[in-house]
This record gives sequence, structure tokens and C-alpha cells, in this order.
Amino acid sequence: MEKIGVVGLGIMGAGIVEVFAKANFSVVGIAESDAAVELGQSNLAKSLNRAVSREKITSEQAADITARVSWGTDFALLKDCDLVVEAAPEIMSLKAKIFAELDSHVKASAILASNTSSLSVTEISQATNRRSRVVGLHFFNPAPVQKFVEVISTDHSDSDVISTVVELAKSLGKEPAQIGDQPGFIVNKLLLRYLNHAVRLIDDGLSTRDTIDAAMRELAHFPMGPLELLDLVGLDTSVEVLNTIYDDTGLDTDGPASGLTARVNIGDFGRKSGKGFYSYEQPHVAATSDDDMAKSRVYVELLNAYLDSAREMRDSGYATESDINLGMKLGCGLPEGPFETIARIGSDRLPVN
Ligand code: NAD
Repeated sequence: MEKIGVVGLGIMGAGIVEVFAKANFSVVGIAESDAAVELGQSNLAKSLNRAVSREKITSEQAADITARVSWGTDFALLKDCDLVVEAAPEIMSLKAKIFAELDSHVKASAILASNTSSLSVTEISQATNRRSRVVGLHFFNPAPVQKFVEVISTDHSDSDVISTVVELAKSLGKEPAQIGDQPGFIVNKLLLRYLNHAVRLIDDGLSTRDTIDAAMRELAHFPMGPLELLDLVGLDTSVEVLNTIYDDTGLDTDGPASGLTARVNIGDFGRKSGKGFYSYEQPHVAATSDDDMAKSRVYVELLNAYLDSAREMRDSGYATESDINLGMKLGCGLPEGPFETIARIGSDRLPVN
């Protein structure tokens, strides 16, 4: 592979451009308008400037990386790319339209990949006449930093295509997990179920925002509490992902909690709108709670549900223990994977008092 296309140049697309350009590929960045292309260019420049100021790369290297990227709005510029990664908004009709267009512009031997977080890659592939050469290639945010990637195959994916993409991901310095096409894949499914459960504890009057966030920071040693993390991920995005998981599993517990949908309905999306579970008028300060009993109850409840969900995923044959561990550590920044927790506590679950 020599030439890579990236369609959609937002947070993820610009990061994916950077990943490939840093790995010496020649990259074509495409967006729907000149303004969107300029935003992508400025996102890349900002990220490279940051890397130079932190002495991660030299200014000569930054200039070389920039010179490897060409930009535009015309899909015809992608015609001789070997792989095109789509990172447009998470809307099925838009992705289907883009893939149909890619199929008509990009050479037949090329692989088409979607960076979707939760949509069906199988459905996206149906917009093309090359279903066997369509995969999911799910980077985590920020793409240049996060080492984990999910490589998603559909029932139609050619095994050579999957192994090519897995090897490519490794050559980018990433740690890929190869999995099938299920809503949320490994990381978002386990993460969103856990976050949703935390909101239900508030909805059901069983705990409070501060107790929950303090419990998971202090007792589980997670880098953030679940409600702080929901605000960061975006409550609207979280509701969308939960809806796709619920559509697949039909489990009531996978439907978005009312505390999430109610906030989304009034425009409280989290950090990006200035308000979610917390208000962001002032710099965010991590919640604390002195109620050790209440924190302990929350910790046991949430951790056990998360461990149950991880074991269920493994037992279904969807993903291996090591890929699940890797995903939750590298994709979510958790201190250990769920099966490492199980090994450490010497049991499938924490004892319930
Ligand atoms: P974003 O809104 O920041 O960027 C989307 C980009 O797509 C914008 O630059 C927009 O101009 C462009 N776009 C819109 N319509 C287009 C079209 N018709 N053709 C080409 N480009 C078009 O979104 P994002 O957060 O970068 O997410 C992109 C994808 O990556 C989504 O599928 C999302 O689920 C997935 N993803 C997001 C994250 C995250 O943390 N943000 C993490 C992993 C995966």
C-alpha cells in the first residue's frame, strides 16, 4: 500500500490523516466543502505544532508530514488510492452515500474502510459493488495517540482483505483486534453499558452523581467517573450508540437511561454544549464523597455488571479475553482489563455485602 485516502476531516479524520502521513504514506484528505477541508488542514497543523513544541517530532519532520498530504473536495482525487478510510458523521444514510460514491471513483482493487463507532459495517458495505473489500477500521480519539484499533469484518469480507488491514494497522504502530460486526464492537459496547448503568442508579434514586464518580475514581481507579466521562463523550452520541446496541440485543438494560435522554432532549449534551451531568461554566473539578459505604455499594454494583458484560462477550465467542483486556486498557485508558481484574480479585465478581 502506498496511497491512502481519508474522507471527512473532523476530529477523527484529521487524526487519521496524521497517522498515515507520519507512517510515510502519501495521503489524500477529502471533505464536502472548501471550509471543511481548511478545518482539516488547520486540525493537522495544530496537532503537528503541538508535537513539535513537545519535542516529539522536529519541525523538519512536521514539514515532511504536511508535504505528504494533498487535499480537496473531489472524490476523483481518490481514484488511485489503495485504501480509503471514511470518517464522516455517524449517520447511516450519509455513510451509504459516501461509500456508493467511493465505489464509483476508487480503483476496484482498493479497500474501503469506515471509522464508524457503532453503525453496521455490513449495511454500509451494501452501498457498494465490492462488499468483500469493505471493512471497519475503528480508531480511538485522538487517533495519533491511541494505540488500539478495531478491525471489523462482515460476513462478506475477504479474509485477505482483513489480514492486509490488520498488518497495516500493526505497521502504523497500533494494536489491532480483529472482530465481527456487532453494534458498539468491543470497547463501546462494554463502556456504554457501564455508563448507562451508572445513570440508572441515579434515575432509580439509588445513588448520586458525586458518589458514583468518586466511587469509580477512588475504588476502581478508573481515570474518570462514569458521569464525567459521559459528559466528555457527549450525551447525544452516547444515546445514539446505546440505541444501536438496544436495537441489536433488545435488552431493556441496553436502552438509554431516562437521565440521558431527558438531558439530550433539552440540549444538554455534556462538555460540548457547556452542560450535561456537570456544568462547564467553571473549570471542572472531580467530585468527592465522604460516604464510604455508599461508594463501596456503587463500586461493587457497577464493577460486577461490567465484569458480567465482559464475560458474556467472551463466552459468546465475539472477542478473546486478551482483545477485550487490550481494548479496555488502550481504548478507554482503564488501569487493567476486565479479565485482569477477575484474575486479581480471584473471582468472577466482587462479593456483594
Ligand atoms: P466530526 O463531526 O468531527 O467530523 C466529521 C467530518 O465529516 C467533518 O469534517 C465534516 O465536514 C465531514 N463531512 C460531513 N459530510 C461529509 C461528506 N458528505 N463528505 C465528506 N465529508 C463530510 O466527527 P468525528 O468525531 O471526527 O467522527 C467521525 C466518525 O468517526 C464517526 O463515524 C464517529 O462515530 C467516528 N468516531 C468518532 C470518535 C470520537 O471520539 N469523536 C471516535 C472514534 C470514531
